[in-house]
Amino acid sequence: MTTTVWVLGDQLNRSISSLADRQPGDCRVLFVESTSKIESKRWHVQRLHLVLSAMEHFAAELRAEGFDVDYRRATTLSQGLMAHVDAFDVETVVAMEPMSYDGRAMLERHGVQLTRNNQFTCHYDDFASWTEGRKSFKMEDFYRWQRTRLDVFMDGKTPVGGKWNYDHDNRERPPKDGRSWPEFTAFELDDIDRAVLDRMPGTWGREPQGWWPVTRSQALQRLDEFVERALDPFGPHEDAMLGEEWKLAHSTLSASLNLGLLHPQEVVDRAEAAFHDGAAAINSVEGFIRQVIGWREYVWCVYWLWMPEYRTKNGLGADKPVPPAFTGEASTELACVAGTVSHVHDYGYAHHIERLMVLGNLALTAGVDPLAMTNWMWASFVDGAEWVMLPNVVGMAMHADGGMMATKPYASGGAYINKMSNYCKGCRFDPKKRTGDDACPYTTLYWDFLARNEDAFRSNHRMGQQLAGMRRLANLEEVRERAADVRSKLFAGEL
Ligand SMILES: Cc1cc2nc3c(=O)[nH]c(=O)nc-3n(C[C@H](O)[C@H](O)[C@H](O)COP(=O)(O)OP(=O)(O)OC[C@H]3O[C@@H](n4cnc5c(N)ncnc54)[C@H](O)[C@@H]3O)c2cc1C
Ligand code: SF4
Repeated sequence: MTTTVWVLGDQLNRSISSLADRQPGDCRVLFVESTSKIESKRWHVQRLHLVLSAMEHFAAELRAEGFDVDYRRATTLSQGLMAHVDAFDVETVVAMEPMSYDGRAMLERHGVQLTRNNQFTCHYDDFASWTEGRKSFKMEDFYRWQRTRLDVFMDGKTPVGGKWNYDHDNRERPPKDGRSWPEFTAFELDDIDRAVLDRMPGTWGREPQGWWPVTRSQALQRLDEFVERALDPFGPHEDAMLGEEWKLAHSTLSASLNLGLLHPQEVVDRAEAAFHDGAAAINSVEGFIRQVIGWREYVWCVYWLWMPEYRTKNGLGADKPVPPAFTGEASTELACVAGTVSHVHDYGYAHHIERLMVLGNLALTAGVDPLAMTNWMWASFVDGAEWVMLPNVVGMAMHADGGMMATKPYASGGAYINKMSNYCKGCRFDPKKRTGDDACPYTTLYWDFLARNEDAFRSNHRMGQQLAGMRRLANLEEVRERAADVRSKLFAGEL
């Protein structure tokens, strides 16, 4: 056994290209847990626990299959590899192409043989070829290309139902009838889970309650439960927010997908089958498939296309720290922030709109440094990883890339949150007001953001209406004074 297959912590699947054709006896399997990585961030306890526990579970599954597994703890991944090579008679180390840019560079430095990453439906090299010769490569065009070439939810050459996009049906306001939402199984913690928890360093957040699948079989069960119980209502309530309900009908599958426990192809296949079985409506199925083989894969591919420069983009020169109201270091009177942060604290999760329109929007309009925001979210969410955080935070939420991801910033006042959530009802601020002690901080900061960045957006024709609205404000000076006060209180943890 002179060959080692190195399985990285987010490649936890027997079908990864480096392992798929291997049998016990023809290679040794290496896992490395890096203590410097563990100590590099203030991780949410559920996030750190999930990754370490899932690694240990997969190592145990491979051992049970008969593989010789070397599970190491080392200061860095490099040191773990070198210690492994010293300890055994190793001629070749093989690994699947990693998820991160720096990870890839490190493996190349060590001469590790890389196999092609098969954890997505689109490899970034294929995406790069697709972009060649195109003036723009919008997500919508990519998504249609994906649907067609993968033959997902297609009727020959046309999309099932005749339309590519059902977003129009997927923007319902939150229901006011106090209904109950789909429930998923929380998995009982086993011996591995408990042992991992016992050796966790200082973290924050609510201790693991078994919400996040740590094995493939748990992840498959979550997929079943989502398709059976939540896929049908997923679409209409995709954008709605409810303070008392952390996930509504969202799938909660991102963590399992990002660790490799599930493959996106099997996930969309299940959604498509549910439509053909009459178990889920077309708008929900199309909306879900769009997220998985559209947005998720687009984000993955642009990360590789734009790295490493993308990491330091800060087109709007934002330089403020992450507000203490987000990190839990201060309480907050902003009901939407308090609700979203409580979801993050309790589950290491907030759904897409809470991430984008509550946390991202406030960070954008208050001028938070995009990299600081990326790092905080990466450490705080169970599904965080650099490849998915950078385009979503730096590009989508913070508009720090000058419009490479989104042609206009996702900035809005309190009106959007008031329309799509029940947060404002219980808040001491008024979403309609932009000045005065009870003015909604989102509304105040929104106008100030437009005024502050007028030059940056002047040539963006999609921002024309918003800028004209800002210029028409009779009390802009007063708004900007209040915005300065809001920003200073927000960063001092007094709002
Ligand atoms: C500021 C910000 C930060 C984000 N950070 C992350 C992150 O660290 N990790 C992460 O996986 N997603 C991230 N997202 C994308 C998205 O919010 C999450 O994937 C989603 O909320 C996860 O919950 P879910 O599994 O219940 O998703 P659902 O709403 O059920 O959606 C289904 C699946 O679609 C995929 N998906 C949908 N949108 C995106 C997207 N924009 N990028 C990538 N995948 C997407 C996810 O895999 C998700 O599981 C972020 C979005 C924003 C705006
Ligand atoms: S009024 Fe403003 S701060 Fe309060 S919940 Fe609504 S959007 Fe959030």
